[in-house]
Amino acid sequence: MIKVENLKKSFGDLEVLKDININVDPQEVVCVIGPSGSGKSTLLRCLNLLEEPTAGDVFIEGDNLTDSKTNINQLRQKLGMVFQQFNLFPHKTVMENITLGPKRLKNKSETEARELGMQLLEKVGLAEKADVYPDTLSGGQKQRVAIARALAMQPNILLFDEPTSALDPEMVGEVLQVMKDLAEEGMTMTIVTHEMGFAKEVADRVIFMDEGYIVEEGTPEQIFQHPKNERTQAFLSKVL
Ligand code: ADP
Ligand code: MG
Repeated sequence: MIKVENLKKSFGDLEVLKDININVDPQEVVCVIGPSGSGKSTLLRCLNLLEEPTAGDVFIEGDNLTDSKTNINQLRQKLGMVFQQFNLFPHKTVMENITLGPKRLKNKSETEARELGMQLLEKVGLAEKADVYPDTLSGGQKQRVAIARALAMQPNILLFDEPTSALDPEMVGEVLQVMKDLAEEGMTMTIVTHEMGFAKEVADRVIFMDEGYIVEEGTPEQIFQHPKNERTQAFLSKVL
């Protein structure tokens, strides 16, 4: 589903991703953990070309993102992205936020798009919020709308960058529950998170990044119970 080969990314002299290799299989849930500044967000942003890799290849379902012949906009539609800061349009209603992409990029009619939007709002438990503006919602509700908006493009893969880090603690659970439901439905997901309990419970595989490298990866059991690398051990001793 995703294949990353020898990916490098620099900003000027700063080499942020040093030699990243990853495979994500269909329906796999991969959680990426690691200290702040280790390159986790940059990695996700390279996966949908919000950042251009300095070297290496990123394949999405076999198509090379970095090949100039690839239709990037089409490829991007296969990837949904959910950010820490929600990024909802404040002057559009919840429904408008969700239907904008399908109408503009997938040629859906207003009726079709709204129907899909309602289904998705029901899925994230917010059907009654269709016609309100984002600033009337709690953080947890905003993030659930952001997930519905990503799903509205019917992506094959969802990428999450610390989706619960900006939330008050009491709202973390409702967002993680939506993500857990998606995992159970077989959605392929790559999730940068500090929620170690969620990673333990939901991830098929955990990747530990430090200083631009993947230091260690394995099942949640391998990483959380029997980390081999001392940098993994040191990180986990601080966060667990
Ligand atoms: P993480 O998500 O693991 O905290 P990031 O990928 O955000 O790490 O950042 C990794 C490093 O890259 C940091 O040192 C950060 O300052 C730097 N960085 C990220 N984006 C940019 C950018 N657009 N320009 C310059 N430096 C950046
Ligand atoms: Mg980050």
